Amino acid sequence: MDLKETIRTIPDYPKPGIMFRDVTTLLGQPRAFRQAIDELVQPYAGLGIDKVAGIEARGFILGGAAAHQLSAGFVPLRKKGKLPYKTITESYQLEYGVDEMEMHEDAIVKGDRVLLVDDLIATGGTAEAAIKLLRRAGAEIVAAAFVVDLPELGGADRIRALSCEVQALMA
Ligand code: IMP
Repeated sequence: MDLKETIRTIPDYPKPGIMFRDVTTLLGQPRAFRQAIDELVQPYAGLGIDKVAGIEARGFILGGAAAHQLSAGFVPLRKKGKLPYKTITESYQLEYGVDEMEMHEDAIVKGDRVLLVDDLIATGGTAEAAIKLLRRAGAEIVAAAFVVDLPELGGADRIRALSCEVQALMA
């Protein structure tokens, strides 16, 4: 099926002028959810992925399912202050201000082969912070995989410039 047709666009959310791609309509359709996960993991099956890292919050849903399918572990990359144990932190620029992403300091074993997963890549700032955090912990990032790429915002090119393979199911 055409997964693009299962994603809803909400105009002016979260603020005027933004066309928000709402993947909850994809997640809610059994065949679409299955197909999205199949397509996300297919290039990496048999490549020895140790862990899938998912970016809060929709990256948890997709990344958890992907990890299960790859028989890999799952690592949550969270907003500041949400993780209970010792963390390492990476700051990144938002349109207005700065945000911080955190990961448990022992979530990655040096040399772990990691697939990074999120629902959408726009400017690539969030994924870049995730890649830096994972690499600081010693991860070997096999690829970053997204359901949606917004290519006009340049995020995929920004991530490729970090020598990281990028995959998206649709633009
Ligand atoms: P970036 O850092 O500009 O690439 O923004 C990507 C992050 O913001 C991801 O974690 C996405 O979940 C979220 N995001 C940005 N725009 C959208 C959208 O239109 N739909 C869903 N998530 C979005």
